[in-house]
Amino acid sequence: MMKEPHLVLGVLNGDDIGHEVVPAAVAIASAAAEKHGLDIAWRPMPIGRNALDTHGSTLPEGTLETLAKMNGFVLGPIGHRDYPKGPGAINPHPIMRKHFNLFANVRPTRSYPDIGCLYDDIDLVIVRENNEGFQPDRNVVAGSGEFRPSEDMTISVRVITRKGSDRVARVALELARSRRKLLTLVHKNTVFKLGCGMFVEECYKAAKDYPDVTVNEVIVDTMAMRLVRDPQSFDVVVTTNMFGDILTDEAAGLVGGLGMAPGLCIGDGDFAMAQATHGSAPDIAGTGKANPYAMVDSTRMLLDWLGRRHKIAQAVEAAQTMERAMTATLADAKARTGDIRGQGNTASMTAAVIAAIRRAG
Ligand code: ATP
Repeated sequence: MMKEPHLVLGVLNGDDIGHEVVPAAVAIASAAAEKHGLDIAWRPMPIGRNALDTHGSTLPEGTLETLAKMNGFVLGPIGHRDYPKGPGAINPHPIMRKHFNLFANVRPTRSYPDIGCLYDDIDLVIVRENNEGFQPDRNVVAGSGEFRPSEDMTISVRVITRKGSDRVARVALELARSRRKLLTLVHKNTVFKLGCGMFVEECYKAAKDYPDVTVNEVIVDTMAMRLVRDPQSFDVVVTTNMFGDILTDEAAGLVGGLGMAPGLCIGDGDFAMAQATHGSAPDIAGTGKANPYAMVDSTRMLLDWLGRRHKIAQAVEAAQTMERAMTATLADAKARTGDIRGQGNTASMTAAVIAAIRRAG
């Protein structure tokens, strides 16, 4: 009888640099998996522009159902703004986050030496609510969260629910508990008294179950300033969708840019999606300039999270080995990419990480 793999994972390249950084992430994760006897069955699936050309849809029929039978997936960046207009050309990732109820987007920011970080001691995680808030393509189940009653007026609505706030707060509290036990709520309840007010209220209610975690709060505009001035004072940050979208890009700017900004989308279940913060970067696609770190680290987070969730020690160990190999590679200016002060490219950086994994004791 054939042995069952430990994990079955979908691989969806996305668009543009996705075709470079996703294969890099899979190659690196496979090398780490091999090292630790972790058996991963990777299942490549079409998505985005290529899928539109071959299957008539950027999210081909059956994709969600097939993914649902797996443990999770790696999703590359989606370049939906360049899709030709037509019925099959939709932005797939909000649909996926919603379908799998991946309501928390966990985005770490960490300094590494010599790569152009603005500080050398940043280590924070922003947990962004993923499925409601201001984003009109995902805050309703039908129609859109913005509309135009007359030619000269547009109304955009922001959705905040007690349940949505409570569950994202709990993800952040759990994470804070495993780290430095400090959670910062970011909001603007001074103006959005009802919306942000509800978010903050639910966060404090959830925090009662985590007495070991210290909770404080910062108004979002102050947060934008403090992230630049004293990012070291933050451990875990939780915030609503749009604030989180903006602050995570700002945080990426502190540590070398979007190539250094990984992410993992999770929910209540045992299923997760690795998705870097960056977009598909059409300006550098095909040039070999794409920094694979963000996508690789997102995949590392996926292995670590699934390993802990499903009690697969080999997956947690493989993630640790990936982390060490990437740290070693980031210290090598010849291997790392130009955006982080290196002389290398996607291929050299990927090869160096794989070599470090194979060398590891
Ligand atoms: P989206 O709105 O889809 O998130 P965006 O408008 O934020 O996309 P990106 O595609 O993320 O834009 O690119 C923004 C800039 O960052 C571009 O100049 C791009 O080249 C750069 N960039 C993004 N990702 C990487 C990466 N992995 N390596 C190097 N540079 C990157």
